[in-house]
Amino acid sequence: KKLSSAEVRQMFLDFFKSKQHMIEPSASLVPVNDATLLWINSGVATMKKYFDGSVVPENPRIANAQKSIRTNDIENVGKTARHHTMFEMLGNFSIGDYFKVEAIEWAWEFLTSPEWIGFDPDKLYVTVYPEDKEAKRIWLEEVGIPVDHVVEIEDNFWDLGAGPSGPDSEIFYDRGESFNDLAEDDPENYPGGENERYLEIWNLVFSEFNHTPQGTYEPLPHQNIDTGMGLERMVSIIQDAPTNFETDLFLPIIGKVEELSGKKYGVDKQLDVSFKVIADHIRSLAFAIGDGALPSNEGRGYVLRRLLRRAVMHGKKLGIDQAFLYKLVPVVGNIMVSYYPEVNQQEAFIEKVVRTEEERFHETINDGLTMLNNVLAELKTKNETTLDGKVIFKLYDTFGFPVELTEEVAEDEGLKVDHEGFEVEMQAQKERARAARSTEKSMGVQTALLGDIKVKSQFVGYDHLESESELL
Ligand code: ATP
Ligand code: MG
Ligand code: MG
Ligand code: MG
Repeated sequence: KKLSSAEVRQMFLDFFKSKQHMIEPSASLVPVNDATLLWINSGVATMKKYFDGSVVPENPRIANAQKSIRTNDIENVGKTARHHTMFEMLGNFSIGDYFKVEAIEWAWEFLTSPEWIGFDPDKLYVTVYPEDKEAKRIWLEEVGIPVDHVVEIEDNFWDLGAGPSGPDSEIFYDRGESFNDLAEDDPENYPGGENERYLEIWNLVFSEFNHTPQGTYEPLPHQNIDTGMGLERMVSIIQDAPTNFETDLFLPIIGKVEELSGKKYGVDKQLDVSFKVIADHIRSLAFAIGDGALPSNEGRGYVLRRLLRRAVMHGKKLGIDQAFLYKLVPVVGNIMVSYYPEVNQQEAFIEKVVRTEEERFHETINDGLTMLNNVLAELKTKNETTLDGKVIFKLYDTFGFPVELTEEVAEDEGLKVDHEGFEVEMQAQKERARAARSTEKSMGVQTALLGDIKVKSQFVGYDHLESESELL
């Protein structure tokens, strides 16, 4: 019998409990006391307080299953087998306690021991940082894996530009030759490099240096361990699923979308992308809203708005013309309830937020799509290759199409996008708004326009914040 996702998660926590770790519950997706992060994007993001010494944990060995959101992967979703916007990271952490030998040996034991996951060791490859001779030695001599299963990679250094940093070592599972086709378009197509065939499952970070403001690397007083394993990827291997989506974490959502759309999953590649995007995005939406984020025009809220509108567009590709995402919320809640009861507990509220936001976009989406499709058709007949920034702006400003969404649609049609032209329009609007504001101020009136101005200027700030968050 194949393990369920809930069993895999629990097995990970039980394993590290047996190695004297204390288990911390998943923290909220919305960072607490951390202005540098838009979303919790990894297990370690919730452990900063221990790593920087501001809080001393009861036990220096900690393990968790942490819900995480990564905006840098939005466009990968549905296209790769392995990326989500919200996923769970399983992690074990050592706050100045054990180091490389234990981290590596335990990872290996968990993955290969028949008492635990029991993977065939021949399927596993690891990467190390070229200068990290110690990690390589441990893999070869203590673990005893063959030398052609260890690959040195320059990238394997975890560094945020400041603070704790160090080499890492990643573990890959070879899914076999039948995955070569899927891997074909992948630039990192080598043994040990990640792609659909050599699936990256676990990152072990050995943080042992302090990256100083002067740019030097000083040894840290304490050496720490921080690891992250992708639950969905583990489950795809264990449940023998071609992608993360054919697992018990996603299939019930896809099944519900089949029911709502009358379309079948697994028949048409393009439609499958839409099923996957919807199944992915509704998880992020449900959990993020459950954790207190709300759709809006700035920061975190803008990410939610963008995800929701992208999911609605994919719903349209499946022929769904009404609000439907909210109906998936209870399905998400039920899948996750054993470890994350929060979606079920707040089901009515989350549904209401999602439904309201969907209905709002439905008011303008058809007009926007008509405009976009007309422009695309016209470009094709004229043999032109670039979508004008003015169009992108109009879709954004009048019809609420997130700029990234319009650009993605155009790029999927093989067009280039005039992003600069969009920025120029955006800037011009801000100038107009500023001028209007000074006039209005002098008249002492607070108009609706003012609210709009605020939104637009904050929107620009969001880019900045997001790129910071993607450093992690
Ligand atoms: P990738 O190279 O596949 O984008 P990564 O190197 O960015 O992954 P890490 O930061 O090393 O990922 O995170 C640790 C683990 O978390 C990865 O090995 C993977 O199993 C999982 N993971 C990372 N990003 C995602 C994602 N977007 N969706 C699902 N799982 C992910
Ligand atoms: Mg990544
Ligand atoms: Mg990677
Ligand atoms: Mg990685």
